[in-house]
Amino acid sequence: MSKASLTFLGAAGAVTGSRHLLRVGGRSILVDCGLFQGLKGLRLKNWDAFPVDPATIDDVVLTHAHLDHSGYLPKLVREGFRGRVFSTTATADLCELMLLDSAKIQEGDAAFANRHGFSKHHPALPLYGKRDALRALEHFQALDFDAPSDLGHGANLVFRRAGHILGAACVQLRWGGKTIVFSGDLGRYNDPLMHDPAAMTQADYLVVESTYGDRLHTPVAPADALLEVIQRTTARGGTVIIPAFAVGRAQELLYLFWRLKQAGRLPLTPVYLDSPMAINASDIFRRHPLDHRLSPDECKAAMGSATYVRDVEESKALTYNTMPKIIISASGMATGGRVLHHLKAYGPDRRNTILFAGYQAAGTRGEALLNGAREVKIHGEWIPIRAEVDSLPALSAHADADEIMRWLHGFERAPRRTFIVHGEPSASGALRQRIQAELGWACDTPAEGDSWVLS
Ligand code: ZN
Repeated sequence: MSKASLTFLGAAGAVTGSRHLLRVGGRSILVDCGLFQGLKGLRLKNWDAFPVDPATIDDVVLTHAHLDHSGYLPKLVREGFRGRVFSTTATADLCELMLLDSAKIQEGDAAFANRHGFSKHHPALPLYGKRDALRALEHFQALDFDAPSDLGHGANLVFRRAGHILGAACVQLRWGGKTIVFSGDLGRYNDPLMHDPAAMTQADYLVVESTYGDRLHTPVAPADALLEVIQRTTARGGTVIIPAFAVGRAQELLYLFWRLKQAGRLPLTPVYLDSPMAINASDIFRRHPLDHRLSPDECKAAMGSATYVRDVEESKALTYNTMPKIIISASGMATGGRVLHHLKAYGPDRRNTILFAGYQAAGTRGEALLNGAREVKIHGEWIPIRAEVDSLPALSAHADADEIMRWLHGFERAPRRTFIVHGEPSASGALRQRIQAELGWACDTPAEGDSWVLS
């Protein structure tokens, strides 16, 4: 049996920057290659030299397309990574969209900093650019779900469905005589759009996420919860702004709006999807009918339930339109994107509602608003927030603590060790206690940089 180790290079004690390095006999595979997001101290880490020489990494395996799992790839390639990037087909399609968009945001941030003199560096440089993203995309090799693939150096890889978002996978690697499973981000059971997380039964070592490791989602039907907020807001003549992840939540929201309209419960309020990326992601959703529960007709109808806003001028016009309406716009944690212009325009008016539809990482504007911040800094300007601020945990793309436990119960015997990652320390700690109490498994909440010998 070859010497094996697992090193945690990110999403350890935090929810972003997923990067786990598996080494067996001198070869290495990086599982996920995410950006750090949220708190400034975390974001700055994206600029640090990668802890190992990227040229020495043989392959990258991606669990899904969200940037906190994939967004560092262009930088890794720029720093010398020459190997293959394995993902599911839908993840590869989504990454094309997301990595190019991420490059555009990086370039835009650098240009903005240069125009306004924000940066200490002159000129401010982007973390990576479009060329780097295009180069990263050339490394992709897409695989089907549930089809074992021999990676060529003794490693065997299978992607299993994780729910969560289109293309999202749990990763099972058999390598060096061991089976190592990574949950990736787990989705929910009985989600209207996504399939249930697939049961996994065998692992010698298990790496599991814990985003909601200390929380349970309310059992309220998401459509009802959504409608309640909309009715309350439009009754006072207000507009509902929904910051949503362009991939995942945006499609779920379109589906819910379609169902509400179909049932005659949302008769007149116009719905706008103001995010070119979310619009493109919806097209990709349609192209992968096996990866979700909707029939082609349902998919077409659901994705057509909003007015699509592609153009910047149309987006600006929306901020001057005083009629009650619903605007879904990215980014989901209000860290960037068009939604910032809407927060500036609609945040100061108490008739409006800012409705969060997903997890808000520490240090993001989304988290500050949900914690009651009465002003937020946007584009260097302090904006007073008088609008109602609300969230719909029922809309989450992440399993709650009970659902994570349900997935863990699928294993036929205890892994030798379970590593709990991708959560704030309180969430990871709570899940650890629960796993120990309910399953009696040996588990650990690794810190960033921790390395384990897999014996
Ligand atoms: Zn995710």
